[in-house]
Amino acid sequence: MTPAVEYETVIGLEIHVQLATRTKMFCSCGLGFGEEPNTRTCPVCLALPGALPVINAEAIHFGLMIGLALGCKLNDRSIFDRKQYFYPDSPKGYQISQNEDPLCSGGELGGVRIHRAHLEEDAAKTIHSGGGGGRIQGSAASVVDFNRGGTPLCEIVTEPDITSAEQAGEFLRLLRTTMRRIGVSDVNMEEGSLRCDANISIRPVGQQELGVKTELKNMNSFRFIERGIRAEVARQEGLLRAGEPVVQETLHFDPRTERLTSMRSKEEAHDYRYFPEPDLTPVTITPEMLERARAAMPELPAARQARFADELGLNPDTAKLLAWRTELGDYFEAALAEGDADAVPLANWTTNELVQRLGADVDPAGSNVRPAALAGLVTLVTEKKITAGAGKTVLDKLVAEGGDPTAIVETENLAAMGGAEELAPVVAAALEAQPDVAARIRGGDMKPIGAIIGAVMKETKGRADGKEVTRLVREQLGL
Ligand code: ADP
Ligand code: ZN
Ligand code: MG
Repeated sequence: MTPAVEYETVIGLEIHVQLATRTKMFCSCGLGFGEEPNTRTCPVCLALPGALPVINAEAIHFGLMIGLALGCKLNDRSIFDRKQYFYPDSPKGYQISQNEDPLCSGGELGGVRIHRAHLEEDAAKTIHSGGGGGRIQGSAASVVDFNRGGTPLCEIVTEPDITSAEQAGEFLRLLRTTMRRIGVSDVNMEEGSLRCDANISIRPVGQQELGVKTELKNMNSFRFIERGIRAEVARQEGLLRAGEPVVQETLHFDPRTERLTSMRSKEEAHDYRYFPEPDLTPVTITPEMLERARAAMPELPAARQARFADELGLNPDTAKLLAWRTELGDYFEAALAEGDADAVPLANWTTNELVQRLGADVDPAGSNVRPAALAGLVTLVTEKKITAGAGKTVLDKLVAEGGDPTAIVETENLAAMGGAEELAPVVAAALEAQPDVAARIRGGDMKPIGAIIGAVMKETKGRADGKEVTRLVREQLGL
């Protein structure tokens, strides 16, 4: 029997980032989300005859920052084009986008090569309502809200470098935190300010040539994207194993049913008949514009992660958590600067104990725990002035009412026990109280020692050092 063919997955992503500019891409309407429909419109974004577009300089600035964040080549001359398609959400009958000459080309983020990044305008929002919802009595109707129409978008296209659903999710998370860090977008998938299409193919391992791809459209959460990709990879593998071809098509993934349905096939694919937008001159990037974009760039999450790992010695997961959640990283660095706590335990206390107590999405800067207080607490623990268990009690107090860790240790009587002299009688009492446990340990079974440690911790309110308790147990039982 010949061994079964192994397939590998190939994914390229097309991501739309809604830019958080003050006004739309080509007119002076403000951006809105959730406003009364059709209250943020003007002749330009409604495509009234004679209205002319004007390029939003802030969108160009944000586009350049995105290019810098993705390590792209920033093209000093780029062109807006008309992308023709007919749909109610596009009142001009075309979208102004960039085709042959995008603002940014090439680049890399998180090991995935970026093909290009260009600017364009968002479509309006079509709302399909069942009978009665629209104005046409008794029949289904579609209504259009033009508030979103003309919102600036940056479309980022990756090379087909991604090899799994998990990697796609990871790349998108890095992209999201990077965009958020540079402040160009809210990057909120639920609200549609970050949208992603996934191009997916598979091929036998070792084959150079890419397989036929399908495109998964409009998935609005990270989990759905990963699940959609997994479902599509499984579907393609099923086809190929059954000797059937993958057909190039656009698919919709329904996260409720896990079902993939075809939206359109290659034959129905659009011919957009791109041509340069005659109402706009080419975009020329001056050295001043580049300088302004460069000056606006903060340290990016990927660079911060590397710095935390390389310079502070944090483990990869902790470095990533602190670097990708900017406010957490800022808090950690403030604590590091204010106290004399060691970076590694301070990072661990921040990402574990503090995050656990505050909740995953809470900015600790707004909590009762001042950075200096956390640093002080960690120093008390690492210098063995208090045990880790007592430290947690102190942190509970800090979270609840703030204050100074040293003062809390004092008032709550949480200082670590002096040493063997103080601890030995407590251990002896615990062994005496649980003779069967003591007997098992004496017989060489160390498993039940937890019961003794627990009793000692209870008696000392967590002030005893667990290792010291273990040592004393062994000593007292003659092991
Ligand atoms: P199209 O012409 O259909 O728009 P492009 O070549 O412009 O296709 O690529 C669009 C996206 O699809 C890019 O992210 C690219 O990396 C990805 N892609 C292209 N070919 C494949 C393939 N065979 N498998 C997976 N992704 C692909
Ligand atoms: Zn407008
Ligand atoms: Mg293309």
